[in-house]
Amino acid sequence: MSKIQAIRGMNDILPSDTPLWQYVESKVQSVLHSYGYREIRFPVLEQTQLFKRSIGEVTDIVEKEMYSFDDRNGENLSLRPEGTAGCVRAADEHGLLYNQQQRLWYKGPMFRYERPQKGRYRQFHQIGVETYGMAGPDIDVEVILLSARLWRELGLSQVVRLEINNIGTAQDRRNFGEALIAFLRQHEAALDEDSRRRLQSNPLRILDSKVPSTQALLVDAPGLADFVSEETRVHFARLKELLDLAGISYVVNPRLVRGLDYYNNMVFEWITDALGAQGTVCAGGRYDGLVAQLGGRGTPAVGFAMGIERLVLLVQEAGNAPADITQTLDVYMVAAEERIGEAMVLAETLRSELPGLRVQLNCGGGKTSNQLKKAYNSGARLAVVLESDSESVRIRHLDEESASETVDPAELSKALGSLI
Ligand code: ATP
Ligand code: MG
Repeated sequence: MSKIQAIRGMNDILPSDTPLWQYVESKVQSVLHSYGYREIRFPVLEQTQLFKRSIGEVTDIVEKEMYSFDDRNGENLSLRPEGTAGCVRAADEHGLLYNQQQRLWYKGPMFRYERPQKGRYRQFHQIGVETYGMAGPDIDVEVILLSARLWRELGLSQVVRLEINNIGTAQDRRNFGEALIAFLRQHEAALDEDSRRRLQSNPLRILDSKVPSTQALLVDAPGLADFVSEETRVHFARLKELLDLAGISYVVNPRLVRGLDYYNNMVFEWITDALGAQGTVCAGGRYDGLVAQLGGRGTPAVGFAMGIERLVLLVQEAGNAPADITQTLDVYMVAAEERIGEAMVLAETLRSELPGLRVQLNCGGGKTSNQLKKAYNSGARLAVVLESDSESVRIRHLDEESASETVDPAELSKALGSLI
């Protein structure tokens, strides 16, 4: 019978890879906690309407990348393509937003029907940060500082760079959109098909086009920077001052517009050249209009999301992960057939008395010599051996050629405690 395989673009993460994932995730988590951010969890399925209303009807994500279906009740649901919409929905639904400040984070799988390639998958994972109730550039800088600290912790500071932009208010972008349409209409014949369609629906997305002839046309197009209002200019200027003060270097990229409609004012991306075309490892910005757009009260907000796959790839390529993260055992216990019960009890005692000690008991029997081979292959530093012709236990140092010592079983945890 033919075997059923995984869905294209949806990866299994195997035990050989999970230590690196756990390393990256635990670094992120400890940085987040050091700034007082609290975790929120929300479902992977939401009403399709939530994403349409937040991300935007005429974005790549909603137009062609969502996994949407009718459930048995006829409700149209979608697997979440990103976390911000669900986070706003959940936070507002439970009254976390009204008259409050929140610093939240989440982690989990996201789903987009994209063409799979290195760093781009159909099920991928994000860690996201969302803050609510703070309108000034101080919180913008905080979330950027937090991400910069993470790159330092992961040894990636040299391979990522920060790009920022001011995309103005929604009204600024509408004004700019009109000017852009007027300009592009004069060159309509030279536009690629996608962009011609966008001329009606979402002209700003044309700026993001990857088609070279379209990019060439855009060189002389009006710039968003000439349309952004004074209020957002002041915010952006202060943001830059604060970044300078904090010693964070950045480049202002006037072309940075982001592919989701809810952003306004400040947007940013952390970019790397080490992952080919999939260069954005972390992206975000302000979205002051979204809460109200989803039916809540106007609430200033800023956040970002990073792709864990891309982070893991980067850490791998930069070669900065500590070598010992794949080591998952400290002690491997070898026992002759008649002493397996004693070994099991002893292993339990060790786990109780030496918290954090990682002990694995050989199960399935076998000759002592074969069990010892498994001990060497396990990566443990020590083997504890219970032989048949003895009442004591032997501690064997697996890293130092055959060094060993014999102890009384009652003394084992004390002896191991001084060795680990
Ligand atoms: P890209 O320009 O690479 O398509 P994006 O603008 O669509 O990214 P966001 O929606 O802002 O990305 O998501 C934030 C982060 O999530 C990205 O910077 C990236 O690290 C990660 N990400 C997005 N889509 C994918 C995907 N299909 N596979 C893996 N990671 C992804
Ligand atoms: Mg994308």
